[in-house]
Amino acid sequence: MRKIEYLKKGQCIWCLLSKPIVKFKTKPHTIPRTLNNENIGFDICDSCNSFFGTDNNGSIVSYSLDKISKEFFNVHKFLLTNKNSESWKEFKSQFFNYYHKSGKLKIKVDYIRNPSYANEFTRKFKRGIYNMFLQEYHRITENGLDEKFNKIREFVRNNNGDIPLYYLVSNNGIRLTENIDEPLEIHFNDLSLKIIDNYGYYHFTMTGLNFYLFVTDKAYENIDFIEKEANKLIGSGFVFIDFIELKRINQIDFTLNNWGI
Ligand SMILES: [Zn+2]
Repeated sequence: MRKIEYLKKGQCIWCLLSKPIVKFKTKPHTIPRTLNNENIGFDICDSCNSFFGTDNNGSIVSYSLDKISKEFFNVHKFLLTNKNSESWKEFKSQFFNYYHKSGKLKIKVDYIRNPSYANEFTRKFKRGIYNMFLQEYHRITENGLDEKFNKIREFVRNNNGDIPLYYLVSNNGIRLTENIDEPLEIHFNDLSLKIIDNYGYYHFTMTGLNFYLFVTDKAYENIDFIEKEANKLIGSGFVFIDFIELKRINQIDFTLNNWGI
């Protein structure tokens, strides 16, 4: 029996290589498997797939991109589903401490004692978000090889350059916008695809966290428009209070209460 290949366009969306230089035999989860076991992508070669999922002990932050994304959204999910007085005891995380009495979750990243570690951690988190974006975008549209995404490839796969990630700061309390028992998704519809084409940005929502991604160069020309759109949400009386460029991972509110930075 011929083994399945996860290939449609014949070229890896990350390294742009084709067969036989690279293989496409490993099932590529577009969103880390523990968050979503169902969305299987294509045109992600075995070596890129393994790169995103493998820890690197040579790096200042050894955790893989997948592991960092997985943990972030899993702990957030934990908070949102922390329903009874006992469930918190099951909390396990490599990156967070949970303080039950105050309901606070605090990331184990110390900006004062170890700023280079903290900055690298933030950078890896950002790369993980852009990683999920391009893989899901390609799964839905088959257009992820477009050269307008070259900066994302450089940033995520080769760790070159930088792309801003904006964050919609929520007030004291997260609002659940999706069914948390379902596999976690990021959504694309006609409108969000049109926004990517015309304005170059993508509004990424998962477990009630909201990010704005600069997915093509057009986003830089449209920063005023993007801010205006984000401000509409802030002005809607919803829980959002600010729109900021994420520079430090602990700018993200991971609790039902605000916690000191
Ligand atoms: Zn590749």
